[in-house]
Amino acid sequence: MCVGCRVRTVKSDLLRLVVVEDVLVPDPRGRLPGRGAHVHPDLACFELAERRRAFPRAFRLPGPLDSGVLRARLAEQARQQQDDQR
Ligand SMILES: [Zn+2]
Repeated sequence: MCVGCRVRTVKSDLLRLVVVEDVLVPDPRGRLPGRGAHVHPDLACFELAERRRAFPRAFRLPGPLDSGVLRARLAEQARQQQDDQR
């Protein structure tokens, strides 16, 4: 389930996230240990999850979590997709 829009979908559609020292880290290959959360690789879902404080809840951490790395990655991805569509 995506922690942003809360739509159930197959895992391959979602980006796995883990927390490393209070930083949200994307784990696209699913190789990092620890509790994971899944979100659509989409800025809209990310922002929804942030607004709902879904990340700390998903990881059962008091938060706040540093989401800068994840945000930058999703923003970069969105830019690339726009380029592809041109
Ligand atoms: Zn979503």
